[in-house]
Amino acid sequence: MTVLDAFDLDGQTAIVTGGNRGIGRAIANALAEAGANVVIANRDVALGEEAATKIADTTGTDTFAVECDVTDEDAVEAMVEATVERFDGIDVLVNNAGIVIHEAIETMSLKEWSTVLETNLTGAFICSRAAGREMMQNGGGVILNVSSMSAFIANYPQRQVAYNASKAGLEGFKNQLASEWAEFDIRVNNLAPGYVATDNADQGAQVAENAVDTWEGEMLLDEMATPEMLGPTAVYLTSDASAYMTGETIVLDGGYTVR
Ligand code: NDP
Repeated sequence: MTVLDAFDLDGQTAIVTGGNRGIGRAIANALAEAGANVVIANRDVALGEEAATKIADTTGTDTFAVECDVTDEDAVEAMVEATVERFDGIDVLVNNAGIVIHEAIETMSLKEWSTVLETNLTGAFICSRAAGREMMQNGGGVILNVSSMSAFIANYPQRQVAYNASKAGLEGFKNQLASEWAEFDIRVNNLAPGYVATDNADQGAQVAENAVDTWEGEMLLDEMATPEMLGPTAVYLTSDASAYMTGETIVLDGGYTVR
């Protein structure tokens, strides 16, 4: 045994919500490179299938896509059922699916607020409940929520109050879930990225002039992360390398929040 063996996910089964693009796709690929069979769960199943095929081809793992809206209880239950049918259990759930709506609070509709909360926070609850029940029966597992540095700070110049509330909610969710499910050997941790170059960040860049310059001016490491930069930390948090860690958050933000 070497220290690197602790990062091995060989033969494990991992669900990654929002695994068809952006951060989720990079995490799905990283977990597969570490040996996991990955289920990619999101709404655009054609893009999910394209990602799954590519990941399976390059890693040799059994990776497939399921159409799933994380806000739809029945769709989530069906996705979990399909996973268990194929792999006999679930070892890892990555709650990554998330959206942002850039709108000032004074003009934000209740629908906009609710859509963000339902996707980013309620979606994590629905998926954790469904996958957690399976993990309990199988002797445990790992849940990783993709939170955000926005759980801890105010972003600017863009307006995104619902998003920050949802990510702060994921922090409380993680603390309580880790506490309640420790007795079932289910570990729960959060990964809180700073700005990462994806569609999500592009949206923010378009609503405010000089947004990217403003963000990068706050970072000690000068540039936004690529999605792939999150892969190694996701492997750490979902493997035995973090076996003694639960109820914690790793902030990976290029030194944004320290300043
Ligand atoms: P993208 O917009 O690139 O991807 C979002 C992903 O979420 C897509 O795969 C999308 O798939 C999926 N998704 C959205 N809504 C749903 C839904 N209702 N059900 C299932 N899947 C859904 O964003 P990122 O990759 O940047 O974001 C991924 C996560 O990382 C999010 O939680 C985000 O908040 C977080 N994050 C992002 C940061 C950044 O700077 N980019 C910084 C910090 C955190 P589909 O549309 O097919 O359903």
